[in-house]
Amino acid sequence: MIYLKSDEEIELLRESNQIVAKTLAEMAKIIKPGVSTLDLDKRAEEFIRDMGGVPGFLGYGGFPGSICTSVNDQIVHGIPSEEVVLQEGDIISVDCGVLKNGFHGDSAYTFCVGEVAPEIKDLLRTTKESLYKGIEQAFEGRRIGDIASAVQTYCEERGYSVVREMVGHGVGRSLHESPEVPNYGRKGNGIQLKTGMTISIEPMINMGTRRIIFERDGWTTRTADGKPSAHFEHSVAISQGKADILSSFEYVEQIIGKEF
Ligand code: MG
Ligand code: MG
Repeated sequence: MIYLKSDEEIELLRESNQIVAKTLAEMAKIIKPGVSTLDLDKRAEEFIRDMGGVPGFLGYGGFPGSICTSVNDQIVHGIPSEEVVLQEGDIISVDCGVLKNGFHGDSAYTFCVGEVAPEIKDLLRTTKESLYKGIEQAFEGRRIGDIASAVQTYCEERGYSVVREMVGHGVGRSLHESPEVPNYGRKGNGIQLKTGMTISIEPMINMGTRRIIFERDGWTTRTADGKPSAHFEHSVAISQGKADILSSFEYVEQIIGKEF
């Protein structure tokens, strides 16, 4: 069942998502060669709690971290670890959730570590752009398939592949609500969007094959060919018929500028 949110509830979702956005900016400040993904996780948890929130991912389904940290060919759901130390030329997706006032924020950004190869920056740019192509379709009367098709077409036309196994989702009092929001599909298919729906749109786009591997840790997903994967996510409300982006990359990009 899809829970429609009131304007007041959408404002609470915005508050949680703005803490997520600022947490991602904290990550932007400290991501550099030599930093471990556990260092990032500790800082994220401390910052989220300082802002009066609770890390939404911590303990979710048994997940041990406050953020998901997925490096290079890892797609999503990487577990923060002191053994994973960032190196020059890596990319890292940080997916962050914050629970405050009973509502979940959820957003992700893929960062460059030092200088990254131009073809990998192209993947990052395309993935981020595809997220906004999806958001352009997120208004009253359109369907989930319109978002899905916009993301898929944009990425596949540029030679990339779309992960099928993990998808976006409704978001609200639960981190994952109905409906599912895939990054592949056909225009005109699926549930129709209406005011009060709140969804997380999150393209996971691979440079090579779309096939993936689930690692033995029960969480991490990785590309089957070892090529890089990128991930960007916004939480979006359909508010008065139109897309209202509740999360933000503005704070991140104030720190790192436009890297790609
Ligand atoms: Mg997320
Ligand atoms: Mg999500």
